[in-house]
Amino acid sequence: MRPAPPIEYDSGNYDYVIVGAGSAGCVLADRLTASGRHRVLLIEAGGSDARLAIKVPIGYGFTFSDRRVNWAYRTQADPGLASRSIYWPRGKVIGGCSSINAMAYVRGLPHDFDDWERNGANGWNWAAVRRAFLNLEIFRGFGDQGEPTVRGVGPLCVSDLRDQMHPFSSRFLESARDIGWPVLRSTDDREQEGLTYFCSTVRNGYRVSAADAFLRAALRRPNLRVVANALVTRLSTKDDRLSRVHYRVGGTEHVCEANAEIIVSAGAVNSPQILQLSGIGPQDLLQSHGIPVLRDLKQVGKGLQDHLAISHLYEATEPTLNTVLGRWLGRVGAGLRYAVTRRGALSVPVNQVGGFIRSGGPDSAPDIQIFCNPASYSVSASGKPHMDRKPGYLLSAQPCRPTSRGEIRIASPDPRDAPLIHPNSLATEEDRLGAIRAGKLIRDLLAAPTLRRVTRSTKTPDIRQMTDDDMLDDFRSRASTVFHPCGTCRMGATSATSVVDSRLRVHDIDGLRVVDASTFPNITSGNTNAPTLMLAMRAADMILEDARG
Ligand SMILES: Cc1cc2nc3c(=O)[nH]c(=O)nc-3n(C[C@H](O)[C@H](O)[C@H](O)COP(=O)(O)OP(=O)(O)OC[C@H]3O[C@@H](n4cnc5c(N)ncnc54)[C@H](O)[C@@H]3O)c2cc1C
Repeated sequence: MRPAPPIEYDSGNYDYVIVGAGSAGCVLADRLTASGRHRVLLIEAGGSDARLAIKVPIGYGFTFSDRRVNWAYRTQADPGLASRSIYWPRGKVIGGCSSINAMAYVRGLPHDFDDWERNGANGWNWAAVRRAFLNLEIFRGFGDQGEPTVRGVGPLCVSDLRDQMHPFSSRFLESARDIGWPVLRSTDDREQEGLTYFCSTVRNGYRVSAADAFLRAALRRPNLRVVANALVTRLSTKDDRLSRVHYRVGGTEHVCEANAEIIVSAGAVNSPQILQLSGIGPQDLLQSHGIPVLRDLKQVGKGLQDHLAISHLYEATEPTLNTVLGRWLGRVGAGLRYAVTRRGALSVPVNQVGGFIRSGGPDSAPDIQIFCNPASYSVSASGKPHMDRKPGYLLSAQPCRPTSRGEIRIASPDPRDAPLIHPNSLATEEDRLGAIRAGKLIRDLLAAPTLRRVTRSTKTPDIRQMTDDDMLDDFRSRASTVFHPCGTCRMGATSATSVVDSRLRVHDIDGLRVVDASTFPNITSGNTNAPTLMLAMRAADMILEDARG
């Protein structure tokens, strides 16, 4: 038995206690303190985000496996992926995953949100969420004549960095044109299908995390207190009302109280973990760990979805980012250029071209997301990236809307033990067919005259030689997460099918909401940071509305 730590009562008078300073938590901390009327405590397990590897976009490769800022989880052996245990990075730092993510800014497709509403999340259709996206963003891009333009007035800076991307990136767009895929002028919700240059949450050569866009300014307000390096261990009741948050700093246990609400924003892995540790979850699971059941909510932890992608690497006949970043001298040159101008190879994320393409599946909408990176690199099983020395590139394809659902379960009643992640990948025939269609799109793109001309050799199994069965086997043995877990506390109409209602209130429990990617009713087609920020913006409006009565 580990000895129980001493307890200190936090006498602060808080209206809201937010657990987790990630994408959603930072938005909430800002919005809920803006009027000055509410006192907010924000508790984060990780520490400061003041690190070069977080601020400089190319630092992504370093934070990817750095345990000082990363929970660095591993899944359970996944039968659908040849029983492999997959590395799952998650941000453990102020800003959460938005401080360590790859910065691609993608809202998702309209039918993703219309399906949210169809799945019981009333009021979350595309028309409604589109307005919230517009309030969130300020776009720095280019007009029809290539002139710099700024659009929108939101706090989150999203930049079109095409003028700084590696010239090899244009080869991907030429190849798309060669084979008749649409090439879009920009990521814009008027057109959904086609490749284009990615927009990124980057400004003037620096990452823009949720902490940068939302928390930084809010920190000056006297009604916000942030406690970092503090692990929330459980929630508990006082006078029959769930209002207490227990957290541990070093060896000391602290308890604080929320007068109005507790908002759990600990992300898709840890939000269900905290609920389960607090006795809110499937009764049999809680009892098996000796945790007293506060509410038997069967769906807590269930409904896990994630994106998987298969990547193919090629050696190129032309210079690519490897020519710069794969060599010592190139890195020094790029570093100097960045230090002086904040531009060049270090200032741009490595995902440079991509978009949604129809693969001929049952969906009438685009159903595969493509990523084209002007660099070839591999990631070791422990998450260490390695950039190849010779010029190369990467093509990657991700089925957009997998239907398999996995689960998060606590491993023990000890909050320090990582929860068990069961992704249950490729459990449905639909998903297995999607994996094959993803491979075929890579094969189509690779067959484009432009890419054929600039490709020297294949560094991964040769997709041109594969049958459908081979493609599925290749996917099972090499595909990996795209880091978008969601749905583990999903929104919906009833407690039989979901964890929170359409206002993100946990079913049948007063004073408790969950606001983060765990509440997505179903995974959106693309990257999940933008929809999480949007969700938190709308949730904040709802919380403030409810406070006004
Ligand atoms: C490597 C990587 C690359 C990605 N790339 C992209 C991309 O390019 N574009 C994109 O759109 N999305 C990307 N994503 C996904 C996206 O960033 C996430 O979906 C989004 O940030 C999730 O936000 P969240 O608020 O749900 O959770 P998080 O941002 O994970 O926030 C949860 C916070 O809660 C804290 N926390 C957890 N447990 C506790 C506890 N017990 N006590 C106190 N605090 C706790 C965590 O430390 C964390 O700070 C990527 C993610 C990763 C990991």
